[in-house]
Amino acid sequence: MFLHLTPFQRELQQRVRALVAEKIAPRAAELDAREEFPQEVFEAFRDAGLLRLSLPETYGGINAEATTLCLVIEEISKASAGTALLVFPTQAVIRILRGAGSAEQQDRFFREFAAGDKLAGFCLTEPNFGSDAGSLQTRAVAEGDHYIVNGTKSYITLGPHAHYYLVFVRTGPGKRTGGISALVVPRDTPGLTFGRQERKMGLGDSVTTEMVFTNARVPKENRLLGEGEGWRILARQANPMRVWGAASLALGIAEGAYEAALDFARRRTQFKKKIASFQAVRFMLADMKTSIEAAKSLIYRTAALIDSGEGSFRDLETLVSMSKYYTSDMAMKVAIDAVQIFGGAGYLKGAPVERLMRDAKAVQIFDGSNQIQRMVVSKNIILD
Ligand SMILES: Cc1cc2nc3c(=O)[nH]c(=O)nc-3n(C[C@H](O)[C@H](O)[C@H](O)COP(=O)(O)OP(=O)(O)OC[C@H]3O[C@@H](n4cnc5c(N)ncnc54)[C@H](O)[C@@H]3O)c2cc1C
Repeated sequence: MFLHLTPFQRELQQRVRALVAEKIAPRAAELDAREEFPQEVFEAFRDAGLLRLSLPETYGGINAEATTLCLVIEEISKASAGTALLVFPTQAVIRILRGAGSAEQQDRFFREFAAGDKLAGFCLTEPNFGSDAGSLQTRAVAEGDHYIVNGTKSYITLGPHAHYYLVFVRTGPGKRTGGISALVVPRDTPGLTFGRQERKMGLGDSVTTEMVFTNARVPKENRLLGEGEGWRILARQANPMRVWGAASLALGIAEGAYEAALDFARRRTQFKKKIASFQAVRFMLADMKTSIEAAKSLIYRTAALIDSGEGSFRDLETLVSMSKYYTSDMAMKVAIDAVQIFGGAGYLKGAPVERLMRDAKAVQIFDGSNQIQRMVVSKNIILD
């Protein structure tokens, strides 16, 4: 339904929609079942310039705002959320570089991303510290003009297929969040290895692996901002990605599931009538569509606030967390209801709705679980 978009945003939305219809939607089930890096989708996104959207124009990008990124991630996720994860962490890292990189770092890394053929990973979670990311243990010890990094990161989206990784490490001596720094780590760094690919419930079209640092040498010139400023980067620069990333991904999943269920309900006949004529089914569809529109309003209102540069830090943080948890909980419910409307056909492997249901579950967990997002919202509204 209606969104205030610029002519450019509308044109980009149509272009991504056409690309998804041609290159992804017909093969989404196969890409999920294959559980491999989707090389052909990577090439299609590279050729369409989707991997460098956030770069400044001088480096070949379009300086994409949050609203523009929402549109792109939402469109891709309607067909295949896993392939949207080629765009999501890559744009997150570019945007963080824009916000926290020095002029020299921006020039050095943006030249690398300018051809639009590079991916970037975002590396925070560790085996023993997920929600409690502030206690992370991957250690970076200064030695001359390098850091020697040791530790393990888990569930890293893109695994070995990214070219650069933004890695959050403990440089100390500050305790908990105070001792965290952010390093840009090239994939070919000696001492950096990857575990085997995780097998997941859903998102088979996205690669996830562990990442192990064994005396890996990372130049100090790759640290963003000062030592101990990693948590500030997370709070200030990384936080908005939950709107155009996780929330928009979930919105796309919900829309994909709803459209499939609506189409099925109009076609399927029982008791000599289309099942779309039964009130129980009609009301499910009405609730699905209403909750999608509510989430869409929340997401695009939040993105508009981010793009305006207005709003206090607390207002933005609250709206970002609300968008993330509301939309992914909504997507889970919509996907479950879509399976119900399909009946037995929805429970069969390869049905679009069963895949979208498995994908929706991941978004309730990653990018800060929905319990953690509720903690942020309650802290910000109760102010105790
Ligand atoms: C498909 C996928 C892709 C991912 N990609 C990446 C990636 O690219 N980079 C990256 O860094 N990470 C990634 N992650 C990791 C993800 O961000 C974490 O799984 C998530 O933050 C939760 O951490 P955890 O799994 O360790 O769960 P835990 O933190 O152990 O939490 C377990 C449960 O306890 C709840 N819980 C924890 N603390 C509290 C509390 N204080 N109050 C109430 N409930 C609480 C959680 O909500 C959760 O339900 C990915 C995960 C998945 C599944």
